[in-house]
Amino acid sequence: MKCPECNEPMTSSTENYSYAASGLPHVTLVGVEVRRCPACGEHEAVIPKIEQLHKTLSRGVIGKKARLTGAEIRFLRTYLGWSGVDFAKHMGVTAETISRWENGREQMNPVADRLVRLMVVTKSPVADYSLDDLLDLNDHAAPVRLRITAKKGGWNAETAAV
Ligand SMILES: [Zn+2]
Repeated sequence: MKCPECNEPMTSSTENYSYAASGLPHVTLVGVEVRRCPACGEHEAVIPKIEQLHKTLSRGVIGKKARLTGAEIRFLRTYLGWSGVDFAKHMGVTAETISRWENGREQMNPVADRLVRLMVVTKSPVADYSLDDLLDLNDHAAPVRLRITAKKGGWNAETAAV
């Protein structure tokens, strides 16, 4: 495997990889192949079944009890396949409001927070997600922390310790 940046050979190892590209700061992919270039420092993770991974991540985000953070709102909006304008139309707010939610300058109200979670469930029905899960959500926002492990046929999420 050659480095896409400098064409030198890359090394390969199995690592726990922080999946920052998702926009979620505390998501770790457990035991994935990471290729590194000793010459220029370029690195890339080999991530199979990315669609299933994003479904697993979305399930992890909507399953948490704390209010959604801006980064999570952006992740879920992208998962739903919507631009900021599309999302604004679906939520019945302005695009400026979406922008403030995603930048963390304004906290989403509890009703909007629950609506987004239900939109995600509608996109990809989750068997173990119930309306009762909305009963005990918290008022404060805190980022989801997940450890994601490849399993047969997909990915498995577990909540990571703080
Ligand atoms: Zn390189």
